[in-house]
Amino acid sequence: MRKVGPALALLALLALVSACKSQATQSEQQPHTESTVPGPPRPSLTREDFNRAAVRLNLPLFWRADANSNGRPDDEEIATLLFYPTSDAPDLPKSRQAILGYFPTTAQGATPDEARRRGLVDEDLDQGAPTLIETDLRTANAVDKKLVQHMLAAAGWIDDIYATMSGAKALASRVPADDPGSKSLFRRNWGPACVCAKTREDPQCTAIPGAPKAVPDAYPTVHAVPDAAYCKSIAAQPNAKDLMGPFTVVDKNPAGATPPLVAVPYTERYRDPMQAISKELAAASADETDVGEAALKAYLDAAAKSFTTNDWGPADEAWSRMNPQNSKWYVRVAPDEVLADPCDLKAQFHLTFARIDQASLQWQSKLTPVEQDMEGQLASLIGAPYAARHVSFHLPDFIDIVFNAGDDRQPVGAVAGESLPNWGKVADEGRGRTVAMVNIGATPDTLAMYHKQLASLLDAEAMKAWADDPQAQLMTTILHEATHNLGPTAVYVYKGAKPEAAFGGKLASMLEELKAETGGVYWLEWLRTRGIVTPDLQKQAYAAWMAWALRHISVGVHSGTSDQAYAQLAAVQVGFAMDDGAITFDPAAPAANGTDKGAFTIHYEKLPATWEKLMKRVATIKATNDKVAGEALVAQYVDGPTVPQKTIAERELRFPQINYVYAVDR
Ligand SMILES: [Zn+2]
Repeated sequence: MRKVGPALALLALLALVSACKSQATQSEQQPHTESTVPGPPRPSLTREDFNRAAVRLNLPLFWRADANSNGRPDDEEIATLLFYPTSDAPDLPKSRQAILGYFPTTAQGATPDEARRRGLVDEDLDQGAPTLIETDLRTANAVDKKLVQHMLAAAGWIDDIYATMSGAKALASRVPADDPGSKSLFRRNWGPACVCAKTREDPQCTAIPGAPKAVPDAYPTVHAVPDAAYCKSIAAQPNAKDLMGPFTVVDKNPAGATPPLVAVPYTERYRDPMQAISKELAAASADETDVGEAALKAYLDAAAKSFTTNDWGPADEAWSRMNPQNSKWYVRVAPDEVLADPCDLKAQFHLTFARIDQASLQWQSKLTPVEQDMEGQLASLIGAPYAARHVSFHLPDFIDIVFNAGDDRQPVGAVAGESLPNWGKVADEGRGRTVAMVNIGATPDTLAMYHKQLASLLDAEAMKAWADDPQAQLMTTILHEATHNLGPTAVYVYKGAKPEAAFGGKLASMLEELKAETGGVYWLEWLRTRGIVTPDLQKQAYAAWMAWALRHISVGVHSGTSDQAYAQLAAVQVGFAMDDGAITFDPAAPAANGTDKGAFTIHYEKLPATWEKLMKRVATIKATNDKVAGEALVAQYVDGPTVPQKTIAERELRFPQINYVYAVDR
């Protein structure tokens, strides 16, 4: 499942999901023409404008940085992106020229409706900031390069099935051929619909004139997207169990036949692309001659077979045996999540291809020797009735995404954590894997955006501790996950009651996450005194935590999204630190960006004592099932006036949402 739970902080830790926000463009209001009109030369086109124009033109180029500061996108500064129509044979000089010469103008001869539609399409595109996930495999060995090649080929077929299932493929020919913006929107959004906050409700915002809806392929509803009543009717069929299976589509039996509906296995309906994927995975296994990758090879073989049998159990078994110690890769290729299905029944195809994050492995090996001491420390901080247990860390696999395909590649935002599989013996017996995608939210552009967001709320002095370095973020993430294993956990029982019974589900999970995230900062001082964390990293991690907390608060403490628990705990942490004098907000102080008035300062030297107090408070609440004290924390900091939540939201939400794009240098 992709969700935020006690075992899974990562979603919210690593990928802040907020409404898509538009970044003003030079000519946002003007729709563009079918062929780019050569504009005046614009040698000073900014990198952001270049990358935005590339998206509007549906061209697979990304200017990653102006490394030599000459204001021009030089060859070596441009990455070629995957998953665009011309990714396989990009014409760099021609594409670059088209982007540099791009000048949005009104489409010639277009009706006012069509002109407005194209303008809205651009607006939807502009609300996602393209952000590069790049993997450099130029120095990789031939075996690894072959694996990437096979994964890319499999990804193409996964995209093909996903587009068929979503109903996008059936509409592809109706996207105006002379309109690169609409084609780009259709590609990015997996269909004609707009997805960003400012445009998604506008019926005229669509990649196809007339705004036809993509109709999922998994149900025989022909021209209509299945609604709740239709989904319910499936459950009432005599063969409902088959029809509701995750790995089948529902089809009509011939007229008069019973039952009226029939379940068609994926391997039958999507036979050709699934066979192609199977061949590709088998070829990947055959080319995997690295003796250290036996577990990966076994999974590739098993998955190749499952793509022909529709029996996913053997693939799951082989997959569950892969881990960060026996493979440097993370591969998951299967139908898994049902969130994109209108009836939440049919598993969608995806391919997650990633590398094990080596930095996180190093931190795990540093923490494992002291884990029992950490439990002892926490137990002594809480005191009776809590007593230290024997603990061992069950951390997620920390991975760096190379690329996502199918259901994983979202128009804006990205999957930042996942537990799989959802069905079968491996899931039932709790032998699945949980992963955290640590490079999501840690790309240079994302860190630069976090930097700007923080600089709009912190004063210059407090801002000095911020580092555009993913290590500080990673540190708090790992400590957060470790703390889920320490003290009273999600399965702790006091006086016969588990947290959910004692606190209610929502408060229970908020308190568990509050404990974990407080651990993310509390342990920094403890680890510093043991020489495991340097004073610099400690301070940087505090600043990274503050950036994280403010981003979450901005989503809204009662937003109703899965991020809500994080928004609430972040408000508790910031509010508690404010009451304790470790963080102060001065409405008259200038922010570090030099333009905003009203800023926080962080008294870094006071934070260790503050976090110890908060850790003691929240762990004691959990250890004694003290619902009254838990609710008091919420009333005081989530709903009380201590934290300037409105100011935080206003500044944070100026920034656009992230549209991840992918490149592999080979
Ligand atoms: Zn968590």
